[in-house]
Amino acid sequence: MLPPDRLARFARHIVLPEVGGAGQVALARAHVVLIGCGGIGAPALQYLAGAGVGRLTLIDDDVVEASNLQRQTIFTQADIAAPKAEAARRWVARFDPALGVTAHQTRLTQANAAALIAGATLVLDGSDNFATRLAVSDACVAAHIPLTSAAVGRFQGQLANFAGHLPDHACYRCFVGEAFDAEDCDTCADDGVLGAFVGLVGAMAAAHAIRIILAAAHIPGALAQPQWGQLQLIDGLAPAMRAITIAHDPACPHTHLASPTRRETP
Ligand SMILES: [Zn+2]
Repeated sequence: MLPPDRLARFARHIVLPEVGGAGQVALARAHVVLIGCGGIGAPALQYLAGAGVGRLTLIDDDVVEASNLQRQTIFTQADIAAPKAEAARRWVARFDPALGVTAHQTRLTQANAAALIAGATLVLDGSDNFATRLAVSDACVAAHIPLTSAAVGRFQGQLANFAGHLPDHACYRCFVGEAFDAEDCDTCADDGVLGAFVGLVGAMAAAHAIRIILAAAHIPGALAQPQWGQLQLIDGLAPAMRAITIAHDPACPHTHLASPTRRETP
């Protein structure tokens, strides 16, 4: 059970039938590894910490720049030139000292991914390049860790939960294929982006992560549905959202390797 001060803090969650006391305990016991503390990661972190996710691991190799402040809501003028992971860790410590938070000022790669995500309830990927995204996805599949993946390109947002470690479930690599493995294939880091729109996608990514946490704890109700492989395409110009189903790609080597129990189709 949660102590009285935590019950009070999360009263608006606990009163929701879809969360309840058991759901709030699940959130308190969860460990989310956040890849990227930028435009998606910053608002996602605010809502994950706000939700009382008990353990947070923050991974980012970048430093705060003035141009980040337009959308990376946890940083202030005083954080400019500070490592993002460490500044984000300080934000969590100020916001809720009861949460456990660890910062890694490093770039996630194929080589270090397994160690960085070990033990996570889920990984939330808000990174800004395909090399990192694919390394995150492969490591999640191999370690049997669910993945919340969120991205924004100008006014299009993409958000999905992946369980590539489960039989016949798509992983992120099933979605994008092998074409983007090149280290130099960054997405839209140099494009413009509306701060409020990327914040919307980041907040929704936090809600998607909460779905996974509740589902893993077998909390009943419609919120505890991760909606694996359902990609939400979010239009920020003419506001609308539509879902497409990402199919498991039988040729995806990483899914094959990690799912030895997967039923082979003839
Ligand atoms: Zn795959």
